[in-house]
Amino acid sequence: MIVKERMMDMFARMRKLSGQGEGHGVHRLAFTDADWQARGYLMELMREMGLSLREDAFGNVVGRWEGAEPSLPAVMFGSHADSVPNGGNYDGVLGILAAIETVRSLKEDGFSTEHPLEIALFMCEESSRFGAATLGSRAMLGELSVDDTRRLKDKAGIALYDVLKERGLAPDMLGKPLYDGEVKAFFEVHIEQGRVLEHEKKSVGIVTGIAAPTRFWVKLEGNADHSGATPMALRHDAACAAAEIVLFAERLAAAEKKHPAVATVGVLQIAPGVMNVIPGSAELGVDIRSIDAATKKRVAENLKDAISEICKRRDVAFELVPISDERPVAIRPSVLDFLDGICREDGCSYMRLPSGAGHDAMHWAERVPTGMLFIPCRDGISHNPEEYAAPEDIVNAVRLLEKVVRAASRKNVTFA
Ligand SMILES: [Zn+2]
Repeated sequence: MIVKERMMDMFARMRKLSGQGEGHGVHRLAFTDADWQARGYLMELMREMGLSLREDAFGNVVGRWEGAEPSLPAVMFGSHADSVPNGGNYDGVLGILAAIETVRSLKEDGFSTEHPLEIALFMCEESSRFGAATLGSRAMLGELSVDDTRRLKDKAGIALYDVLKERGLAPDMLGKPLYDGEVKAFFEVHIEQGRVLEHEKKSVGIVTGIAAPTRFWVKLEGNADHSGATPMALRHDAACAAAEIVLFAERLAAAEKKHPAVATVGVLQIAPGVMNVIPGSAELGVDIRSIDAATKKRVAENLKDAISEICKRRDVAFELVPISDERPVAIRPSVLDFLDGICREDGCSYMRLPSGAGHDAMHWAERVPTGMLFIPCRDGISHNPEEYAAPEDIVNAVRLLEKVVRAASRKNVTFA
């Protein structure tokens, strides 16, 4: 049985291991002392339950419960425990504690599993320290090289390679990943980090896909003329062109109905930035996301066409500089139907929704059947000390994860 008090105790303990005093946010940057202590605590919990622990070259931890047939691929579930600077106590933590409580509950119930069960604790999910996200999952799947760890540095200039060495890990062994796809299915429970579930008054969300960003810079070059002496018809105002682009991006994304898309101009700088000079140049940082690759591509291409048209009409020169173009991940229909079935049978209030943020699960989704469950977090706030998830929603999610694991551990349950 899932025990609420036990769950809350673990959350309280994780908050204590947060690197900051009571009343402050969780400050558990990857591989810092606070992160390492939390990892130690979670490993201790897994050991106490009788799981056998494995660690890989990157410090990821897998706690295994042997199945009736050890040769069968494992059902894996888990998340990360690192945080952003001054973050919350639920992002990632929910997923790993949910996994631990699920196994504890199954053990107490005398459950015997056909497929082996594995709890995964992924290191360094947040990009806060090394500027790149989900590094642990990538390492576990062999998608992170020794060179990557030498290239990635934190703010103090310390290479990830050296940080790993310092922790007694073996970055030189990254070429030999822990997994090559031999997993039956992977499941992750996470807070939504948005406001949809709260707004729709649902206690659970079944994630349909994980959006990935396409990002580029738009550099505009007009004329920085005198703001008093230049009539409107003779201007080449870079800020006006930028304003049109910002609004056009908003309209384009909002028009996508079948697969939702979001477009954000989160950076907008104009120069010279004084009252008596027409803005001669502007720089925009554009971020477009969707869980559907074709939709995202269409929004990006249409926006680029519009930028060209706007700039031509205004006689403003422009340059597009690509930053990144990542592949969104769709969750398989067989897994969506499986999770639907679990939620329907359970009678909880749920809905399907896309994830706008990236997660460890996205790397698994490309290789093995993968499912994600979201729970609401208050006001959608995350990566912030105010991050909060209600105990009832937490317990509800763990209850569902237990049902998911029970079902997925059976040989007669398969995923196309
Ligand atoms: Zn997370």
